[in-house]
Amino acid sequence: MIKVGISSCLIGEQVRYDGGHKRSAFCDEELRRHVELVPYCPEVGIGLGVPRPTIRLEGDVDAPQAVIPKTGQNVTAGISDFATNRQRQYTQLSGYVLCAKSPSCGMERVRVYKPGTNENAKDGMGIFARRLREMFPALPLEEDGRLNDPLLRENFVLRVYVYDAWKKLPQPLKSADIQAFHARQKFTLLAHDQPTYRKLGRELAEQKTMTPEFATYYIETLMNALTQPASRKNNTNVLQHIQGFFKDHIESAERQELAELILEYNAGRVPLMVPLSMINHYLRKHPDAYLSQQSYLRPYPDDLKLRYGL
Ligand code: SF4
Repeated sequence: MIKVGISSCLIGEQVRYDGGHKRSAFCDEELRRHVELVPYCPEVGIGLGVPRPTIRLEGDVDAPQAVIPKTGQNVTAGISDFATNRQRQYTQLSGYVLCAKSPSCGMERVRVYKPGTNENAKDGMGIFARRLREMFPALPLEEDGRLNDPLLRENFVLRVYVYDAWKKLPQPLKSADIQAFHARQKFTLLAHDQPTYRKLGRELAEQKTMTPEFATYYIETLMNALTQPASRKNNTNVLQHIQGFFKDHIESAERQELAELILEYNAGRVPLMVPLSMINHYLRKHPDAYLSQQSYLRPYPDDLKLRYGL
């Protein structure tokens, strides 16, 4: 089963500084039905109890220190080492859901204070989250609050499934396996980032022998491109491209109906699922090996229902 790391407080564990939690219903119920959630609380992990005095970030927003104002204790190294010491466990993860705003787990816009004052800028990243990103630049990260946005939620789950498929490739990585993986992700990448789609495809084709450096560059570039949610315009472009695969197989009235549905989606009058369901229907009737393998058509289990609102 796919493993996804998560801040413990997001699955209801009472590990916050005040003894509370921040349970995310989406993670703890819907996501949990499809992935194994692996919880970590770095602050409890380094021996700070529950309840405990609050921690805050201080100093340089690009390299802040995590400090307990009540005691003056600096816990930056402890939290960072907590992540470093679990590097091997984290290689098994295909995604990570972080608790927003936390000086340890927050992914972005965490308050960073000017030492000794209450002046702050909401520009920082939690110490644990920063170390996680340094160690695994391609690992999909997301925050609980952002997962309430249907577009960002869909985007995160999609990235988890793409990254998990990459991690399951046979080792050591061979050119043919990466080419086949890339072929499966083509329409997904096209929907998210057209310039990267063109650039990465070209670079992969030019790669005569596969090196670990290129493989790392490839997956980091791909995963970074996928953080940009697929726009309606790009999805329309992909759907119209897919439509071309059926031009010799379906009647003109059916072609017209599919073209109209794609335009209805483009105008925002029907969700993405509507033209996609029709495409999947035609694909069942007229199988096409290249099209069938596209992750774009079925990026994750249907019952997550993530495309219904897009
Ligand atoms: S945000 Fe992170 S450090 Fe804070 S309680 Fe949740 S898991 Fe623990």
